[in-house]
Amino acid sequence: MDNKDIRVRIAPSPTGFLHIGTGQSALYNWLFAKKMGGKFYLRIEDTDRERSTKEYEESILGALCWLGLDWCGEVIHQSERIQLYRTALEKLLSEGKAFYCHHSQEELEAERQRQEFEKQPPRHECNHKDLPLGKEGGGIIRLNVGDSTQVISFEDQIKGHIEFKAGLLGDFSIARSVSDPLYNFAAVIDDAEMEISHVIRGEDHISNTPKQILVYEALGLPVPLFAHLPLILAPDKSKLSKRHGAMAVVDYKKDYLPDAIVNFLGGLGYTFSKDLLSREEMIQEFELSKVHKSGAIFDTKKLNWINSQYIRRLTPSEFKNLTGLNVSDLAVPLITERLEKLSDAQEFSYLWEAPVYEKELLKWKDSSLEDVKDSLTKTLVVVEELETITDESLRNKLELLSVDTGKASPNNRSVGRGVVFWPLRVVLSGREKSPDPVQLAVVLGKDEVIKRVKEAIGKI
Ligand SMILES: [Zn+2]
Repeated sequence: MDNKDIRVRIAPSPTGFLHIGTGQSALYNWLFAKKMGGKFYLRIEDTDRERSTKEYEESILGALCWLGLDWCGEVIHQSERIQLYRTALEKLLSEGKAFYCHHSQEELEAERQRQEFEKQPPRHECNHKDLPLGKEGGGIIRLNVGDSTQVISFEDQIKGHIEFKAGLLGDFSIARSVSDPLYNFAAVIDDAEMEISHVIRGEDHISNTPKQILVYEALGLPVPLFAHLPLILAPDKSKLSKRHGAMAVVDYKKDYLPDAIVNFLGGLGYTFSKDLLSREEMIQEFELSKVHKSGAIFDTKKLNWINSQYIRRLTPSEFKNLTGLNVSDLAVPLITERLEKLSDAQEFSYLWEAPVYEKELLKWKDSSLEDVKDSLTKTLVVVEELETITDESLRNKLELLSVDTGKASPNNRSVGRGVVFWPLRVVLSGREKSPDPVQLAVVLGKDEVIKRVKEAIGKI
């Protein structure tokens, strides 16, 4: 195969938001296409009229754009291709490769229960295919699977050789009517018509593959190569579900950077040479055959760590655009160095608005409010004497003040430091935990520090 003939796709249904697993399938298809110089397409499987909506479709497109996974050409819609499926179904019916099954729901259900009782796989081998009845419209359309002893096999590009016995499938259904094809039929027609060379999708599709191969063969169409990606599992190896966190890509937008999500999803089913890498680097390294064969574990801690690394790289203006926060450029690194999720930036609100706190919080260990007042009054003098606050100048002065305060108390210097630095931390942040108070003073600036210290003294 010529590399320019490599064509892949993802085919989500607009019956919900883009699932994180589909996002990963999209990424691997995209990486493979980019690596091989091929093309990546987007097909919307919207034949389920009742559950498909335009809103979901727009959300799916938006999520792919957000992840930076660009597709080739126009978005393809199944709903616009009904005539294509109809022509193919009529061809199979006229050749006797498909037929109408007139068995009632009750009859099929009774057969299913019998098979369950006999511990046989559920399937329907239909005798109508050999009767004139099979040519009469009105029933569900099934593929005439023929020899039930045949083995259907394929070389999975990730998992290796896989085979199924046709007898396990029965004469499976392919359409409710000539204008209402079922998934396994429509997907084959679409993939053939789009000349898809590699069908790369989640391993939950593996049981569809033998059915689709039989449809390709019945239609005399070339069978593409298949590659089934490992499913993403929860840390306890159960199926990933809502209780493990957000499931839709759009749910990640408020907390995560798209580069971090792409980096994380890339590493979920693949071992790259390093933990942090750009899309370009992923493309360079990616080989389909090296995708892991089984369960990728969704580790939120890893995702958060990757996200924190990308947040650190944001410039102040990028950070402010993303969060909408009105914070000084100088203060941004104080936040981004400590952030795993963007929405947690609110915890640093004291960097752009005066904090609210109880005056009791100002007391260091068993010091009194009088001690605090004394210390803050001296700190105020120190700050007012500085032309501008720099880390070095303020820190040196406060250390000297700590020594004096320590001498005055019957204890020692560390008590002095506590009595000086602790109230300043609370005055500036309103919190027990914050970045170093001198760093806070530097980014807040002389005027704001004086204002907050005076207010605190006034409170006592
Ligand atoms: Zn039947």
